[in-house]
Amino acid sequence: MSKRKHKAPGKSSRKGIGIVELLDMFPDEETAVKWFEKVRWPEGRHCPHCGSKNTKPKPGGKPMPYRCSDCHEHFSCKMGTVMENSRIPVRKWVIAMYLMSTNLKGVSSMKLHRDLKVTQKTAWMMAQKIREGWKEGEGMLEGTVECDETFIGGKEKNKHNSKRSHTRGPSGKAVVVGMKDRDTNKVIAKPVQARTKEAVQGFIGENVSQKAMVYTDDHRSYIGLPFEHESVNHSVGEYVREQAHTNGIESFWATLKRGYNGTYHRMSPKHLGRYVTEFAGRHNVREFDTIDQMAFLAKGMVGKKLPYKKLVN
Ligand SMILES: [Zn+2]
Repeated sequence: MSKRKHKAPGKSSRKGIGIVELLDMFPDEETAVKWFEKVRWPEGRHCPHCGSKNTKPKPGGKPMPYRCSDCHEHFSCKMGTVMENSRIPVRKWVIAMYLMSTNLKGVSSMKLHRDLKVTQKTAWMMAQKIREGWKEGEGMLEGTVECDETFIGGKEKNKHNSKRSHTRGPSGKAVVVGMKDRDTNKVIAKPVQARTKEAVQGFIGENVSQKAMVYTDDHRSYIGLPFEHESVNHSVGEYVREQAHTNGIESFWATLKRGYNGTYHRMSPKHLGRYVTEFAGRHNVREFDTIDQMAFLAKGMVGKKLPYKKLVN
């Protein structure tokens, strides 16, 4: 059996938060801001302009409640995060983080629009910005790693045929490559240009350590993979040979597809990467208490910007 290096607490010990409890925890803007500030500045407030800790609250200071005594700039807890320049209250952002962390199939912008009472366009932008929070410094997978690829946007039946016929992705469908470390359960996934050896192995090389043991199917894009490597011969109907299988990453694909079919219906190719990151991010923290999942996401939103222009172009 593999040893678990970062054993997360079991499901029975994780603390979930229901919606009633959430609204009790965040009854107003002040509690939401306080929580976000604590997550963002665990060692006390810092000026986002110059990094100084020498800052003071500004009397009546809205929307910038703090002033830096060193560089004299004003700031808020949103500055230097994906929430910068947003007029949406932090409380609504926190509720959106909760909904996106706890709904395993994702949350549609229509649902956010209704629950948060913001326009659907605003809801869509908030969700795209929150997704940035799941992008992490990815670190290398170094245990027993399953690699696999899937097609998003096509019918299940066609996907299967295309796998068997060893062609590239069926036209119009996006290819997503993913890997799962069986020891830590961590998933890393992203769309690639095509199901080619260069694209697939390039992505694996960036994320899997040379120490890893890698399992794949027998698609030719894996031939010559410079790792200790075994494949199962899907093309002749072989799916599991002792440890050589890709069932773990395939169950992640199943969740991603349930989200695609049930929540997002259509993920535009332009934004697909962000949705895939969301599903992987949620998967990677699923054993955490709800509040820690939200804090993980909130921390990830710091130091990132997603200007509207970049989002729509
Ligand atoms: Zn400053």
